[in-house]
Amino acid sequence: MTTANAYPVTQTIRTIGILGGGQLGMMLAQAALPLGYQCVFLEDNIDCPASLYGRVFSSEQLEDFIAAADVFTLEFENTPTATVEQLAKLSQSNIKSTGTKSTSTKQGMFPPPIALDIAQDRLKEKQMFNTLDIATVPFMTVGSQAELKQACDTLGLPIVLKTSRGGYDGKGQFVIKQDSDIKLAWQDLKNAVSGEGSLTPTPAPLIAEGFINFSREVSIIAVRAQDGTVRCYDLVENHHHNGVLAKTQAPAVGTSHLFAQAKNAITTVMNHLGYVGVMALELFVTKNARGHDYLLANEIAPRVHNSGHWSIEGAITSQFENHIRAVVGLPLGDTDNVHPAIMVNVLGQYPDISAVLNIDGAHYHSYHKAERDDRKIAHITLMPNDVIDLEPALAKLVAVLPNKVGLDKKSAVTNSPEVNTPLSAHNNPESQGTTESQDADLNATKEASTITANYKAPKNTHNEAKE
Ligand code: AMP
Repeated sequence: MTTANAYPVTQTIRTIGILGGGQLGMMLAQAALPLGYQCVFLEDNIDCPASLYGRVFSSEQLEDFIAAADVFTLEFENTPTATVEQLAKLSQSNIKSTGTKSTSTKQGMFPPPIALDIAQDRLKEKQMFNTLDIATVPFMTVGSQAELKQACDTLGLPIVLKTSRGGYDGKGQFVIKQDSDIKLAWQDLKNAVSGEGSLTPTPAPLIAEGFINFSREVSIIAVRAQDGTVRCYDLVENHHHNGVLAKTQAPAVGTSHLFAQAKNAITTVMNHLGYVGVMALELFVTKNARGHDYLLANEIAPRVHNSGHWSIEGAITSQFENHIRAVVGLPLGDTDNVHPAIMVNVLGQYPDISAVLNIDGAHYHSYHKAERDDRKIAHITLMPNDVIDLEPALAKLVAVLPNKVGLDKKSAVTNSPEVNTPLSAHNNPESQGTTESQDADLNATKEASTITANYKAPKNTHNEAKE
């Protein structure tokens, strides 16, 4: 039971409003509680994982959600940018109006809307990387079948054709291996360009990317504080199945020579965006012209990330705690790895928990979700006392998991056009909702009304597929 005076009187932030209420929101709330903060969630599924840790407000209750929170963040990157912008403005206008009659005390929206705007658009994202001198796969904008042909000729086959914004009818990626695929690929994805019949609300051109024969997929997670301090976690290696993360190894073995490049890239992006909070950067390991390992940036996630779940037990300060610290303006915690770990996602079906916990160093995190297909319903972090036991522990875990997809023993991903899979796992940015401020001045109320018009709370089917 909470009490009204359980905070120092000077503490202006007591409640954190989180857009989305999936497992990421749940784990953010788990990290916030020991620091003394409550979380509330804007989410249309009232039985979402986060509901165990704080009050869930639906789209229709956006006004109440805003009233309940002192500062805002998100756990769902397909939240409409307009909403995030409005929440940021609301906070900004209230901060500016200090000393006037404003009664509102909103302390900010982190990360900033620009980060979301860029992360939601692959073209903007890759253009940003290139502007910042961060290497990416070669890419071209495609707005017509003729431009697609041109891109194939220029980039050389195979290429990966992707929607630049969100998913489209559950799809959004097509590997073109030969000229005869061009028409098929265009037919498959062209609606995303016109917006016709597409689930993607904003029509946007496609992006054609050169197909990269990467040796491994890795990611780096970093946190940036409000004063600009940045701390990075180790590079980790990720293994996907059908676009869904199956396991993460932390740290990625044999990547110390790549850490500086990754750290520099994510720090540059965060500084450029004036970012606050945790961000993930997904990268491909490939070879440069001189045959040396080299990183190509693929995409950012402007939020806590599935490839950072190991940090709950495996780092001095978890990504979740560091995100909370950044959002409320506390000093960041040490990001050092305390012990090598392997994190495995539990997809679709729960295992026998006692069989899992019989494995030395296994930590189990249920998301309290119903079993369904390849849905992420839990994760397990393996941290046996002796590092040499990591692979045997993984083998024992795989043996007791009902769904073993993506959990083969290879430590490095081998990709080819044949094994590359469609982007069906990508989220539908289908979330729009409602909100408004409760105790705000006129401006804030006006801005909040705009939010009401634009916003739909995320439904918690959201970042299950890919985070
Ligand atoms: P993305 O949604 O961009 O993360 O793509 C999903 C997955 O497709 C990645 O994790 C890679 O395994 C693969 N992929 C994406 N882009 C490329 C590319 N240009 N070349 C080769 N594989 C890719």
